[in-house]
This record gives sequence, C-alpha cells and structure tokens, in this order.
Amino acid sequence: MNKDRKLIIAGNWKMNKTVAEALDLVRGLKIELANVKEVDIVVCPPYTALADVSRAVLDSNLRLGTQNMSEHNVGAFTGEIASVMLKEFSVRYVILGHSERRQYQKESDALIAKKAAAVHAASLKPIVCVGETLTEREGGQTEKVLATQVSGSLAGLSKDQMAETIVAYEPVWAIGTGKTATTAQAQETHAFIRRQIAKLFDETVARRVRIQYGGSVKPSNARELMSQLDVDGALVGGAALEARSFSDIIKSSI
Ligand code: PEP
Repeated sequence: MNKDRKLIIAGNWKMNKTVAEALDLVRGLKIELANVKEVDIVVCPPYTALADVSRAVLDSNLRLGTQNMSEHNVGAFTGEIASVMLKEFSVRYVILGHSERRQYQKESDALIAKKAAAVHAASLKPIVCVGETLTEREGGQTEKVLATQVSGSLAGLSKDQMAETIVAYEPVWAIGTGKTATTAQAQETHAFIRRQIAKLFDETVARRVRIQYGGSVKPSNARELMSQLDVDGALVGGAALEARSFSDIIKSSI
C-alpha cells in the first residue's frame, strides 16, 4: 500500500498470557512475520512476560510495547511501573489512555498527558488512545468528545514529540464487540483527528503523525480499513492473541 507514513500495527494482549503462552505466541509470530519489513510490528504483553518476550524478540522485527506506564519516575507508588524499569527490557512503545483504563482506573485526559510527557522524556513512544462511546456517537457528540480527548491527552507535547506520538482511534463501541466502524466512518474520524492535531500543532506535524484504528480489527476487515488515506495501522486486541490471526492482519495490510 502506498502511503507516506509507515503502517504500525500493535497487539494489545491485555491481561492475557502466562509467560509460557506468551513465548508460544511470539515463536509463532516470528515464523509468520519474519519477512515483513513494510510495517512496524509491536507486541504489548502483560508486565509479567516482558523479560522473556524481550529476549525472544531480540533478533526479530517485532518491537516491544507495554499497556501502561507511571507518570512518576521513582518512589512510593504501589503497583506502578516507571519508564526506567521498562527500558531495562528494551520497551519502545507504551499504550496510554486505553478506554478500559479510562473506564476502570478513571484515567483522565490530564493524567494521560502527564504520562505521555513521561514516555517522551524516557525516549519511548506513546500510543495515545481516544474514542467515543456508543451513546456519544448516537448523540452526535463524536467530534466534540474526540476534540476534548485529543487536546487534553496531548497537551504540553512539543511539535517534535507530537510527530513521534502514535494516536489510536478506538471507538469504545467497537472494542471487543465484533462491531467495526465502517471504512467511511474510520476515514472520516481519522481525518477529523488529524485536523485537530494540525490546529493544535501544525500541518507538518499532523501529516507525520500515525493514527491507528482499533476496534474488532480482524484479518477480514484489516486491509480495507488500512487502505484508507488517514488510517496508518491498527491497535488489535482479541485477534492479537493468536499468531495466525495477528499475522494475517499484518500481511493483508501490505
Ligand atoms: C483494544 O482493546 O485495543 C481492541 C481494539 O480490542 P479488540 O481488537 O478486541 O476490539
């Protein structure tokens, strides 16, 4: 596919996979995806599997990400993980503000912005998630909600940091539900997000930022979604838990 921006496809494993299961999955991905150079491929295992997966992907084209990170560098923050700890395992990407964390951990845009700053300060790349609920979409609030999330979650980043930030548009109603935004809905919303980034930063930055689509992406819909002008990859949940389906998504997007 012919786009200026390199596609980036990330698998969010959420709270799945023991170490043995994680290694099994990575083994399969390394075999299936060994020759893929056209796409940045990222796997985001749970923290408990980071050390082993980190060793397993060393000699491969798979890059490592995590599903969250603390906004603090060190100290009395029970249960939290700091950037310096992630860097010990060659982590490159950090998912921030996933709708499940916004919902269950009550993460706000302001907190996500602090985390994004911490991720950049550690020379890692954030994947910042935004997305509307079904009620918000049906109530005609999609653009308002996304404009607030985009400006709030990316507040304070420099232009250079923004250009290296990945945004994941994940309509909450499409996550884990089997419902996918139509390609037209996805393109329209991605273009809207890019326009917001142009307003907040500038056109050059907006043209460089990669915007992933997430929400029930599977091998059968991946190609069409990622062929859209402003869709630069995918953040994949359920279908990233099996080597075959995640690999097929990646291969079908090339
Ligand atoms: C996600 O949670 O980021 C996600 C997109 O999940 P799924 O692919 O299962 O809808």
